[in-house]
Amino acid sequence: MPVDGATTSVMQHPLQTRCPDAAGAYVLVVSLPAPLAIRLGSTAPSRLPAGRYLYCGSAYGPGGLRARLTRHFRTDKTIRWHIDQLTTQGMVLGAWALAGGHECDCVRRLGFLSAPIDGFGASDCTQCRSHLLRWPRRVTRKRLLSALSEADAAPLWLPAARS
Ligand SMILES: [Zn+2]
Repeated sequence: MPVDGATTSVMQHPLQTRCPDAAGAYVLVVSLPAPLAIRLGSTAPSRLPAGRYLYCGSAYGPGGLRARLTRHFRTDKTIRWHIDQLTTQGMVLGAWALAGGHECDCVRRLGFLSAPIDGFGASDCTQCRSHLLRWPRRVTRKRLLSALSEADAAPLWLPAARS
């Protein structure tokens, strides 16, 4: 198999054509069909119930949002961050990209949602209890969007599935 085989099939993905390579924040949507045991460091695993989750992150490295979301949308990867446990075992539905945004800002705007696991994705964060939030059925997509759109730029939805 060619080493760059995956690259070719990704060419037409919305991430390649629509996602900014600018730096910014994103809100990743992951659905868990079944409960999942999550491990943060060496602590005992926490049980995450089945359901939908939002992960707020920032991409300020090379390749910006496009590079980071490309990684999140992949299932074959070495577990490096907390969120990798969800993206490899759950179903990534997509992400809202907020060019120029900051992850803790997203967490703050979505403060009406519950944070199921303290410290998730927030090991280095002094502002947030967690960067992972639960998205219950009663909360509409419209409500999330209006909360995230508080600032100037509207979040850009990028679906993970290839059409
Ligand atoms: Zn934070």
